[in-house]
Amino acid sequence: MTEQITYLEGYRECHLCAVEDKTMARRCVHCTGQLSLRERMYLEIKKRRRRRLAPYLSALVPGLGHWYAGRRYVGTYFLAMAPLSVGLVLATYQSWNWGLSTMSLAILLIWVMAIVDSKTTPLHYKPPCQNACPGKVPCSYYVHMAANGMDRESLEVVEAVCPFPGTIGRICHHPCETLCNRGKDGEPVAICALKRFVDDTVDRPFNFYKREIERQPVSVGHSIAVVGAGPSGLSAAVFLRILGFDVSLYDAREFGGGTPLIFVPGYRLPREIYRREVERVLELDLDLNFGKVLGKDFTLADLQKKGYSGIYLALGAMRSVSLPHTGEESEGFLDGREFLENVVLGEGVRLPGQVLVIGGGNVAMDVARSAVRSGADKVKIICLEKRHISREKQFHYFKNEWTEKKTEDTGEFMPAWSWEVNDAVEENVEIIDSGATISFDIERGRVVRARCQKVERIDVDPQGRLIPVLQDNTDFTVAVDWVITAVGSTPDYVSLGGRPEMTNLSEEVPLSLVAPGDGVSIPVLSGGDFVNGPASVIDGIAAGREAACYLYGELLGDPPIHIRYQRRFVHQPWANYPDSFDKRGRRKQNTDRFPGSNGPFSEVFLGYREDVAREEADRCMRCDWPLVRESKVKRFLNSRLKA
Ligand code: SF4
Ligand code: SF4
Repeated sequence: MTEQITYLEGYRECHLCAVEDKTMARRCVHCTGQLSLRERMYLEIKKRRRRRLAPYLSALVPGLGHWYAGRRYVGTYFLAMAPLSVGLVLATYQSWNWGLSTMSLAILLIWVMAIVDSKTTPLHYKPPCQNACPGKVPCSYYVHMAANGMDRESLEVVEAVCPFPGTIGRICHHPCETLCNRGKDGEPVAICALKRFVDDTVDRPFNFYKREIERQPVSVGHSIAVVGAGPSGLSAAVFLRILGFDVSLYDAREFGGGTPLIFVPGYRLPREIYRREVERVLELDLDLNFGKVLGKDFTLADLQKKGYSGIYLALGAMRSVSLPHTGEESEGFLDGREFLENVVLGEGVRLPGQVLVIGGGNVAMDVARSAVRSGADKVKIICLEKRHISREKQFHYFKNEWTEKKTEDTGEFMPAWSWEVNDAVEENVEIIDSGATISFDIERGRVVRARCQKVERIDVDPQGRLIPVLQDNTDFTVAVDWVITAVGSTPDYVSLGGRPEMTNLSEEVPLSLVAPGDGVSIPVLSGGDFVNGPASVIDGIAAGREAACYLYGELLGDPPIHIRYQRRFVHQPWANYPDSFDKRGRRKQNTDRFPGSNGPFSEVFLGYREDVAREEADRCMRCDWPLVRESKVKRFLNSRLKA
C-alpha cells in the first residue's frame, strides 16, 4: 500500500514560504520545492553538464556559454561587449598604434573572462555550515525546520543527500559546526545532533526512497554493479535507484553495512540504528550478491560480460597498517581493527591488565575506549604526534568578524578529532604524546614491557611515511599486558592486481575514474576510502551520490528537465549577528557516561529532549536567508521588549 503523504503547501525544501509570512515569501533560486528527489537530482546533473560545456561555447562566441548555462543577463553582456570592442577596433583602424594594441588586449581579456566566468553557476549563497559539509547537507534548512516542529520534512531534506541520518547524526566529525557562524563568538549550533533528533523523532517505518521510487517509477534501461556495500556503495545504490538504474550490489561479507557495522563500537553507534538504515536501502529492489569477493569470485571483466553499463568500486580501506617492531608472534599483541571487529561483532572481549594502544587517530581512540570497556585496569595511548592545543580565535578587522586560527596540518598534532581525545581522557585513558615505542620485552612468550623514547620531531620520507626523530636520553618504559596497534589502514588493491590509474573527478569528494585495463571499456568509478585511504563516512556517502550523478550523465546525457534560473541578489551573512542580542548557549545532549546504565557499551550520547532540541535549533541564524534572520531578530527583540 502506498503511503499517504502530506506535502507542505508550497515548497518542500525551500520551506521559507511555509514558515514565513506567505506574502513576504521569495522563491528559491531553483524553485525546487515542488520537485521530487529524482527531479532535483536531474537539476544537479544538468547544471553540472552545462557548466562543463559552457566554457567551450564561450570560447567560440563570448557569452554563448552563459546563455547555454542559463545565465542570460551575463551572457548578453558578453555577447554585446565582444562585437562592440571588435567593431571599435575595425572602425578606428588606420595604422597600428598603442591605442589599438590596448583595445586588442581588452578584447582578449573580455574573451578570457567570458570563458572563465561561464564555468561558474548563478550566484546562490550557501551558508558556511553547508559549504563545510562534505555531503553538502543543507544544514540551515533542516535545522530551521526542526526548530519549527517540521521533523518529517527536516528529515527528508537530510535524506535527499544522505541516506544514513541516524548514523551520521551520531558519528559525523561535523566540520559544519567548526565553520558555523554561531561559533564565531559563542558555541556553534549542534547541527550534527539535530540530525539525529529528527531521525529519532519521525515515526518508523518510513522509507523516503521507496516512496520516491514508487511515486514515479522509471527505468533507464541500464544496470550498474556496485562493489562494496559500505556507506559509499549503499549511497551510490540508493541514488542510482532513484535515477532509475537497476543496481546489483556485491560484497565480500555475507551482509551489507561495511565499516560502521564492523568497526564502530556501540557506545558511539548502536548497531540496530545503522542496521535499520542499511535495511531501508536493501529494500529498494537491489540484486544482492553478498559473500562474493572481487578478484576471487569475479573480476571487472566478468561484470562487463554480464551486461552492466558501469561499475562503482567502494571497497573501503580495509588493510591494517602494521608496525615492523611489534612481535606479533608473541602473546599480547593485537591488531586494532581486529580487536574492534571482535568487540563489535563478537561475543565480547576481555582484556584484563595494562593495555597500551599505539596510534593517535580516531581508530586508536575507539580501541582505547573499547579496551576500557573490556575490563582493562589501565589504558594508555602512545603516539608520535603532540596532543592538540586549543585553537585560537582572532578578530579580523577588515571583515569585522572573528575567525578561527587553524593549526596548520603538518602531521605535528594527533590526527584524532580533539573531542574524541577529550572523551577518551574523560574515561581515564592516559595519552603519552610525542612518544614512540622502540622495542618490547618478552617474558615466557608474552609481552611485559614497552621500551619507548620521546619524539623530537616528525619527518616525512618521499613515500609519505612518518619518520620520527627521537630525543637522546629520554627513554622510558611502560608495563603492558596487551599492545594494540592502531596506526591506520589503507585500501587493498590486490583484488585489482595493484593500484589502478585513477583520475580525480571532484575536488570536493573522493571520487575517481579508474582505468581498469583488462579489456574493460565500461565506465569504472571508485569512491570513498578506496580512493585516498580512510576519509569520513560522510565523504564516502557524498562520493556515492556523486558517482550516481556522474554515471547518469555519462550514460544518458542530459536529464529531461528544464532549467530556468531566477535572478536574485546575494546577501552575505551579517558579521557577528546576532551575538550582540542573543547569547543563548548551546544546549547539551543527555548523556549516559561510562560505565553506562545498560552495560559498558551502552550509548554515551542520548540525544535531545524535544523542547531542548527545538530551542537549540532556534539558535541557527539562517545565514543563507536574510529574510528569516531579520524576522528572527525582530521576534527576539520583541520578546525582550515585552519581558
Ligand atoms: S547559524 Fe545556522 S545557518 Fe549559520 S552557519 Fe550556523 S548552522 Fe549554518
Ligand atoms: S553530514 Fe556531518 S558535516 Fe554534514 S551537516 Fe551533517 S554533521 Fe555536518
